[in-house]
Amino acid sequence: PAATQVVTRFAPSPTGYLHIGGARTALFNWLYARGRGGKFLLRIEDTDRARSTPEATEAILKGLTWLGLDWDGEPISQFERRERHAEVARQMLANGTAYKCFSTPEEIAAWREANPRQPFQSPWRDAADLPLETDGTPYAIRLRAPREGETVIDDAVQGQVRVANDQLDDMIILRSDGTPTYMLAVVVDDHDMGVTHVIRGDDHLTNTARQIQIYDAMGWPRPVFAHIPLIHGEDGKKLSKRHGAVGLHEFAALGYPAAAMRNYLARLGWSHGDDELFDDAQAREWFDLPGIGRAPARLDFKKLEHVSG
Ligand code: GLU
Repeated sequence: PAATQVVTRFAPSPTGYLHIGGARTALFNWLYARGRGGKFLLRIEDTDRARSTPEATEAILKGLTWLGLDWDGEPISQFERRERHAEVARQMLANGTAYKCFSTPEEIAAWREANPRQPFQSPWRDAADLPLETDGTPYAIRLRAPREGETVIDDAVQGQVRVANDQLDDMIILRSDGTPTYMLAVVVDDHDMGVTHVIRGDDHLTNTARQIQIYDAMGWPRPVFAHIPLIHGEDGKKLSKRHGAVGLHEFAALGYPAAAMRNYLARLGWSHGDDELFDDAQAREWFDLPGIGRAPARLDFKKLEHVSG
């Protein structure tokens, strides 16, 4: 039987320019798909209406294009899919993996005060005889998360990551104003887009346990997860403006050729034996998940100089 086609995606939040960390995530996803005859999709995570701007979306598309990364189909707007996200929340209500929670912010705050350092436990989780239609009282929809056991992430880079279920609360998937939360939106979109491999920064690892609970609640197959260590500066600290250029456009403006940047970013956290330089065809052929290191990659400007020189 034919193996399933590989589908990867890059899912930036359009709140600013494209940073080299994001560019590297996009490149890894692109290499993984392109080397396997797969698809590379682009999803703009524009659900945060206050922080998302069309200019940022434009800058991200421009940056990817400059770097030579092409995506399949049209970019998908997460915000445009909010009805679909709400529909899945209602399916989870219907199949019993989610419930309506009528607790008010004041009640939740009072509960937390009485139960310090414990994940919130809604009294509505096991409330019997809930009316199906309520009299207009606002409610949030919460996932009925497993209370016992562990949620285990089998990560292609980090190995097995275990989270005790009693550490996770029944997360909100649909807010009382009817808007989906980020956790729900990501899972529904990745599922509907047929994403087989989620390759992203390891700052998302803690979200993954929660996202897995949504896959399981819907009976959806989990994708392969690969969480890549973030990029650090030469001093070992998390990369920031202090280190100099961090936006892809800044490197472009400094005159680094796109091909050199691609080669450099590919080697930032991924290696193929002792090969320092390779061409695009080799990168596509060689790129794989076991070659991604677990230690943070260091941005070394001198090496970048060398590649472009
Ligand atoms: N939108 C998220 C970000 O920009 C990425 C989400 C994901 O890759 O799952 O950090």
